[in-house]
Amino acid sequence: MEKRSEQYGWGRFPRVSAEQIRVENASDAETLMQSEEHFCLMGKGRSYGDQALYDTIAINETKTVMTLDTEQSELTCSSSCTLRMVNAFLQAHKLRLNVSPGTEEITVGGAVANDVHGKNHFDAGTFGETVVQMEVYTVNGREIVKPDDSLFRATVGGGGLTGWIGSVTIRVIPAIGNQFDVSRKKLNSVDAVMQEMINTAMPYKACWMKDLHSFLYTEGDWSRGWDDSKAKRGKLRHHYFGWGSNPTVLNVFDRRTYRKAKEGRSVEPAHTFLYPLDRWEDWNRLYPKGFIQIQFAVRTEVFEECVHLTWNAIQEAGCHPFLATIKHFGKREPIGMLSFPREGFCFTVDIRYKSGREEALQPLHDKLVEKGARFYLAKDSVMKPHHMVHYPELNTFKTYLKESKSTIRSHQSNRLRITEP
Ligand SMILES: Cc1cc2nc3c(=O)[nH]c(=O)nc-3n(C[C@H](O)[C@H](O)[C@H](O)COP(=O)(O)OP(=O)(O)OC[C@H]3O[C@@H](n4cnc5c(N)ncnc54)[C@H](O)[C@@H]3O)c2cc1C
Repeated sequence: MEKRSEQYGWGRFPRVSAEQIRVENASDAETLMQSEEHFCLMGKGRSYGDQALYDTIAINETKTVMTLDTEQSELTCSSSCTLRMVNAFLQAHKLRLNVSPGTEEITVGGAVANDVHGKNHFDAGTFGETVVQMEVYTVNGREIVKPDDSLFRATVGGGGLTGWIGSVTIRVIPAIGNQFDVSRKKLNSVDAVMQEMINTAMPYKACWMKDLHSFLYTEGDWSRGWDDSKAKRGKLRHHYFGWGSNPTVLNVFDRRTYRKAKEGRSVEPAHTFLYPLDRWEDWNRLYPKGFIQIQFAVRTEVFEECVHLTWNAIQEAGCHPFLATIKHFGKREPIGMLSFPREGFCFTVDIRYKSGREEALQPLHDKLVEKGARFYLAKDSVMKPHHMVHYPELNTFKTYLKESKSTIRSHQSNRLRITEP
């Protein structure tokens, strides 16, 4: 056990004091699951709020192992492998993942626990849909679970509350290259973006929003051919830290980026297209006191209204909405009891944290819930229990957890009364 220290997620809010312990092998996981003390699990800590925070945090530091069954096109890997490792390993075998989120700096355990989605959700669904089997350590010991098992459905998207995910077997698909054919277009309304997303045949699509009248819509698909260039990565220079606290600077940055953005077609490395934010490994330090991300999915008919409502509420609170994006979600059977995506559209926006903001955002959450919005647990740090109402299997999940006698808790799961403290 290490000394208590300040811990936080990717949003750097909230900050808590916690002890860290390390899970280095299966025997550590087995012992941990028998613990009578409450604790939470952490992968790379890329969830934004307090989902992977508690008084005691068990960090996944098991050996990273990957094996490939080429006949079945299945990769089995330890949950501590990052998607970056998995992508590099698969590329060497001319294979790839079918679902990958907007960063590859997360663990496979974290990808399962949040049932993550990518820019191709409409076509490909979620990460959990590609999982064939996994090993989960619970209070009952090591269990091997498949998609029809309740433990599988509770663990995929279950925020790490059912048990420790050990190894995961994932269905992978042939890769024709490691580049993307990309097309970009500037649009002037939420409706125009939605029409473009609905009518395109391209499987990967996302849109960056500068303001209610300026959108940079991007779509793409895998391109044939292999490019040897390495992904550019770097750290922010010190003088950029805290930059996000100044709305004027953010405004200038947004205006400049939008003006300089080129429309038309191009071929780009897959990592630039899929993971643009990974270029800067510490971009979350732009905000001095951290930031809150609001991400919700809602049905098509009310999406535009919900975006306007959110945008205006953030501005009325005297804040600059930053890094706002739109995605299109397809109609899929949810693989996990708490899987986030639902048919319709998804909106994401960052807001710098300042004292009291969590309470100031409550009326907006209430209004969005009235419209049917479901918020993403991976990004949440401010929701109240009643904002979970659009998770239709929430009660099934709670009952499952209670009966399983899991001692895992997180500050988020207690705050949202998914678990009892
Ligand atoms: C820049 C950026 C872009 C992102 N883009 C997307 C996106 O496009 N789509 C999307 O869906 N998400 C996205 N995310 C969110 C991210 O994919 C999820 O938060 C993911 O779960 C983080 O994985 P992690 O390894 O960092 O897990 P952590 O943040 O450490 O933990 C997340 C959850 O997983 C649980 N967990 C971790 N390891 C295990 C384990 N071995 N067993 C059981 N439970 C475990 C934790 O308890 C916690 O509940 C993005 C995040 C960032 C920072």
